[in-house]
Amino acid sequence: MRAFEYLRASDVHHAVATAAAGQEAAYLAGGTTQVDLMKDGVLGPDVLIDITRLPLRGVVPDGGAVRVGALTTMAELAADPLVSRRLPVVSESLLLAASPQLRNMATVAGNLLQRTRCRYYRDLSCACNKRQPGSGCGALEGHHRMHAILGTSQHCIATHASDLAVALVALGAAVRVRGVNGERTVPLTQFYLPPGDTPDVENTLGRGELITAVEVPLLPEGARSGYLKVRDRASYEFALASAAVALVITDGVIRDARVALGGLATVPWRSHAAEDALRGAAAAPGTFAAAAEAALSGASPRPGNAFKVELGRRTVVRALSTVAGRQA
Ligand code: SF4
Repeated sequence: MRAFEYLRASDVHHAVATAAAGQEAAYLAGGTTQVDLMKDGVLGPDVLIDITRLPLRGVVPDGGAVRVGALTTMAELAADPLVSRRLPVVSESLLLAASPQLRNMATVAGNLLQRTRCRYYRDLSCACNKRQPGSGCGALEGHHRMHAILGTSQHCIATHASDLAVALVALGAAVRVRGVNGERTVPLTQFYLPPGDTPDVENTLGRGELITAVEVPLLPEGARSGYLKVRDRASYEFALASAAVALVITDGVIRDARVALGGLATVPWRSHAAEDALRGAAAAPGTFAAAAEAALSGASPRPGNAFKVELGRRTVVRALSTVAGRQA
């Protein structure tokens, strides 16, 4: 493990100013990804800034939204009464992720920033453009069963690993970001960057910037929502395909729809095409099939993950059918 300096931040300003200064810095919160990757030699910051004592924890109603402190744990957010009542898609995405031990440690912001599970990224002996730009991509001609079929590039096909981010993208959530020049709000749909020519640049965070909170709009009263995750085993596994869905249905007609996909794309994938296929249509199997077709229409699979196209369609159909059948 590479030697590094450890600092405990006294406040947000101190954390951000330190991270933006000369040396390569990283933040330490729950540590459930950062520490693993440092031990493996994938990440090697000069300075590790411990932010665990900053006052960035808690879930509070904020008008028609909830404001989630960046250091709120996954377990705390999943158990929040307002979130589980009004945003079950969020609670379900959290409870289907990781293990209870990890959910007690991992923070919401850390979850959103977690790194890909691509095995080549974590193996220093392999080519990986995300870890070492310009070195190549071992997954393209290698083992890519778990990899993405949406939003890929010729330089990277890694899947984004967060379930929570998929639910939040469906809901139109945004992150509050603090940097040395002040604070800004970034919708999550603009926060994540597809790999393109620079797979090592995963989001729009500037040097030293820190996520301080996540703002999640509440769904309207009467909306139903849910998260479906399909994986190789029933717990402690990443998604092969997942769908976050929210629907407003009156008199059998879908008035509003949100659809986002996980396990299939390089970024948490909001599908406006699927939503367009749903709005104004009958809440019926044919509509759900059309939405699923639209959601996967741009898929670009490799030989080892072509099965994900049909799996993705079926995941969307099942998620929509299940949520439509729930009580409003
Ligand atoms: Fe690296 Fe992306 Fe290729 Fe995986 S898919 S080896 S993360 S460049």
